[in-house]
Amino acid sequence: MSQQYDFLIVGTGLFGAVFAQQAREAGKSVLLLEARDHIGGNCHSEAHPGTNIIVHTYGTHIFHTNSREIWDYINRFTGFNRYQHRVLTTHRDRVYAMPINLGTINQFYGVNLRPSEVPAFLESKKGNIPNPANLEEKAISLIGEDLYGAFIKNYTIKQWGCDPRELPANIITRLPVRSSYHDSYFNDKYQGIPLEGYTPIFERMIEGIPVEMGVDFLAERDYWMSRARQVVYTGPIDRFFGYEHGRLNWRSVRFETELVDVEDYQGTSVMNYADIEVPFTRIHEPRHLHLEKEQTPGKTVIIREFSQVDNDRPYYPVNFAEDREKLAKYQEMATREGNILFGGRLAEYKYYDMHQVIGSALQKARKVLGGEDQTSV
Ligand SMILES: Cc1cc2nc3c(=O)[nH]c(=O)nc-3n(C[C@H](O)[C@H](O)[C@H](O)COP(=O)(O)OP(=O)(O)OC[C@H]3O[C@@H](n4cnc5c(N)ncnc54)[C@H](O)[C@@H]3O)c2cc1C
Repeated sequence: MSQQYDFLIVGTGLFGAVFAQQAREAGKSVLLLEARDHIGGNCHSEAHPGTNIIVHTYGTHIFHTNSREIWDYINRFTGFNRYQHRVLTTHRDRVYAMPINLGTINQFYGVNLRPSEVPAFLESKKGNIPNPANLEEKAISLIGEDLYGAFIKNYTIKQWGCDPRELPANIITRLPVRSSYHDSYFNDKYQGIPLEGYTPIFERMIEGIPVEMGVDFLAERDYWMSRARQVVYTGPIDRFFGYEHGRLNWRSVRFETELVDVEDYQGTSVMNYADIEVPFTRIHEPRHLHLEKEQTPGKTVIIREFSQVDNDRPYYPVNFAEDREKLAKYQEMATREGNILFGGRLAEYKYYDMHQVIGSALQKARKVLGGEDQTSV
């Protein structure tokens, strides 16, 4: 069979879609493959039936970046509202601001510190652990036993499914503590939520490009490879190589969605739950992402998020030393695959925020397509 396409792109997530858009803009022919029954990868969003509230299928996604170039690029495909992300956490029936700031400290300890008093106060609370041997010791050496016990310990147990004393100290290098009342989660210059959710961005990016939905590229690899001169693969790298060096570990999440008959369930888009007695890690309430919209009165959608380990539903790379060793072997194998470009969070086994995936896809596309690379991310 003749090679019909310049590029076969495996995956319609952000990496695949941006690469496809750039290739097409450069006059190349592109075929997209997608294993799922929808486009957009983990950024996919859809209107909740009955309420029309836009739900982010794989967890709340907030767009944020400091790069003017990336902001201008994404704004070609959508407008954004002025949403600013703030995270709250419930601990013993009280609600605190996260990451830990002056308000959290004052409320938690029942004091009224000024910003300049925070460093000495925290110093007096810190544990004296010169050589922390695990995550727990490291955290106590950074913020002390009280704040660790309230906000980090049980949340970590729920997220990782194991005791923090079994986790390596190097997972954390710092725990952000703000000595002001500043409670915006991201500090980036540009942030917001796409006015119509994320899926329309993808529809516009790949408009006019054929997409084969519900197709697993690896099930008929030779056939699909024969259809194009070059392949861009955004699926899991270990799966591509038949798990020859073992499986990479991923932390995963599971969601339970509920429609409740109140207009506002929790007053915010994301509420963390720090206590071990609460089995979920957080509750999302997506109506709060779109305060600019008239939304169905008297009802709201809430989504409980549970953490789990599931390498078949990859969300966050675990990235232990054994994973890094396996990854290095797979990366070495990838360099021998002449006409295949590996990109995105699954193929690079890397936690990427959306702006980082866009930056990476733009950079790689420009390199391959022969244009000038001016992306500075
Ligand atoms: C819970 C959660 C919350 C997040 N929140 C934020 C946030 O607030 N802000 C932010 O900036 N980022 C956030 N992110 C990160 C964001 O989701 C990623 O940066 C982005 O989705 C990565 O895009 P990607 O194209 O690399 O991967 P993906 O979105 O995973 O796309 C890969 C696509 O390839 C397809 N595929 C894989 N293998 C095959 C195959 N063999 N054949 C065919 N198709 C295949 C998959 O089905 C998928 O559609 C969050 C991530 C998670 C997990």
